[in-house]
Amino acid sequence: MTNSSKRVHNFSAGPSILAQSAFEKSIQDIQNFAGTGLSVLEVSHRGKEFQAVMDEAHALVKQILGLDDEWDVLFLQGGASTQFFQIPMNFLRSKAAYLNTGVWSKKAIAEAKGYGAVDVVASSADTNFHIIPSAYSIPADADYFHCTSNNTIYGTQMPDFPDSPVPMVCDMSSDIFSRPVDVSKFSMIYAGAQKNMGPAGVTLVAVRKSLYARTADRHIPTMLQYAVHAENGSMYNTPPVFPILVSKYNLEWVRDMGGLTAMEARNQSKADLLYKAIDDSPLFEGTADKGSRSRMNVCFVPKDKESDLEARFMAACKEAGISGIKGHRSVGGFRASLYNALPIESVEALVQVIQSFS
Ligand SMILES: *Cc1c(COP(=O)(O)O)cnc(C)c1O
Repeated sequence: MTNSSKRVHNFSAGPSILAQSAFEKSIQDIQNFAGTGLSVLEVSHRGKEFQAVMDEAHALVKQILGLDDEWDVLFLQGGASTQFFQIPMNFLRSKAAYLNTGVWSKKAIAEAKGYGAVDVVASSADTNFHIIPSAYSIPADADYFHCTSNNTIYGTQMPDFPDSPVPMVCDMSSDIFSRPVDVSKFSMIYAGAQKNMGPAGVTLVAVRKSLYARTADRHIPTMLQYAVHAENGSMYNTPPVFPILVSKYNLEWVRDMGGLTAMEARNQSKADLLYKAIDDSPLFEGTADKGSRSRMNVCFVPKDKESDLEARFMAACKEAGISGIKGHRSVGGFRASLYNALPIESVEALVQVIQSFS
């Protein structure tokens, strides 16, 4: 059974929808991997067949993001949440600067405090993170500046990035590969795979080699040293073989669709269509500030909090085959996630349900 034959519109915030072709090719490899007659799940990760997958996956990330040889691409484990402490453990020597735009930023800040001083340059906590702060300055004496490009829970997204006087590190878990990024501004980009790259179980880290020289003078376990993983081509220990394989196929789809420029156009038209329907609706309203709206996660609530609209809308969505749109408990209402692989037809189906309530 494939997704398409079930006709489910998958708006899940993560783990999220992936390209159908990635599933089909992965199923093939579970049964007979690269002509070996064995499953990809039962062969050595150091065999030449999987080594080829690893090499292609690294190369695809570099090609699609536009990373040159000054960068290392790593496939690690532990999720984006491990990066919250691995980054300060490696690079926080005395002080780091953080932009606080929501729950994920807050978790990163909390972990950093275990390793040194943290300067929170701006926060939108007082308005439940409905906006990306724009007026802030980054201290030039910080070891690095950390920001979160897309706030999955609140449906806000950084429309652009500051020119940081210190190395800029960004959690791009929920909008990686969704739009072109000027990588020259960054020293590190990381993402849990399960929002827009692949299935859960692998974490993408792209890091500038020049950053290693700024490593803090403290004991860092071997498994948590970025350079060790780089020297070993993400195979210092057994890598998460299957998530890397599926990610590779999903990234091939991104490349074949036209790369990040094409993804941006695709995601922009889906977001425009949905935000227009919400703005035109007499019954619903968006929760994010218009200038900070995310093209990946669209959050909206009933205007009348007392009505039974929420329950009726949920039921109508279910009827229409729409899955995964319940909002995060800290915002309430609805959240429609429009990751790369979601087709515009799914957004059209959701818009129809919204319009049927007008
Ligand atoms: C989901 C998410 C995380 C957490 O990722 P894990 O891989 O589950 O640790 C971190 N940051 C952002 C922006 C997210 O959306």
